[in-house]
Amino acid sequence: MTRILLLGGTTEASTLARTLAEAGIDAVFSYAGRTARPVGQPLPTRVGGFGGAEGLETYLNTEGFTHVVDATHPFAAQMSTNAVQACAAVAVPLCAFERPAWQAAEGDRWLHTDSIDGAVAALPDAPARVFLAIGKQNLTQFAAKPQHHYLLRLVDEPAANLPLPSTTVEIARGPFDVAGDTALMRRHGITHVVAKNAGGAGAAAKLSAARDLALPVIMIGRPVVPNRPIKGSVAEVMAWLSHPAA
Ligand code: NAP
Repeated sequence: MTRILLLGGTTEASTLARTLAEAGIDAVFSYAGRTARPVGQPLPTRVGGFGGAEGLETYLNTEGFTHVVDATHPFAAQMSTNAVQACAAVAVPLCAFERPAWQAAEGDRWLHTDSIDGAVAALPDAPARVFLAIGKQNLTQFAAKPQHHYLLRLVDEPAANLPLPSTTVEIARGPFDVAGDTALMRRHGITHVVAKNAGGAGAAAKLSAARDLALPVIMIGRPVVPNRPIKGSVAEVMAWLSHPAA
């Protein structure tokens, strides 16, 4: 009997959850528990870490999973690395459901960097107005450039004081559209955008808006994750579930 653990936290994971539920496939959806009100899922849902790769191994064995689909965010490298290690240890087939990285198009002014610190360094020294579109993690590193005003777009109101002296917080959950993001950047007089190369449609609007406004985008490249089969669509994941060796 097939029993799937779906590691979620992305639009792709929610789309796959709907297909699995409609097909009547036995599956459990897993959230890290980062947001106060996670999107409801049509599958039994668990919340919280497993306790590292070893904790995940135990969970996979105890719950009798036959497959794992890692549909976490491309920057959730720790979870993805743990999944590779745990699945190998207990011989449970694993695939990642991952959207391709964004590519610069004509008219884009992207500066590429491979780390958060690289993005901090790429910001100018003169005071700027920065749309820091990277979620709530890693804000502390930008305190090294306190001269800038930072526009933050977060899913939840920040629980504690922000580590940056000059911020505007916009509470919103994607998907976003180009007209809305263009208006947002105009309203806040944005001069620079910082983004993680998440890929996908839901968060791409800010890149089109930046292109239209001729703004530079500091694009942070994806972290490295150990090799695993990568599927780019729900149909590909469903085919893999039927023949996991592919
Ligand atoms: P991470 O650094 O790779 O994970 C840190 C730890 O959080 C993992 O070791 C694991 O704890 C737990 N964890 C992460 N995802 C989990 C899941 N789906 N189910 C159960 N436990 C999970 O991940 P992150 O960057 O903090 O991201 C956390 C979640 O937010 C992910 O599910 C991701 O899809 C989502 N997200 C992340 C970003 C981003 O930019 N990083 C953006 C949008 C959404 P244990 O070691 O205890 O098992």
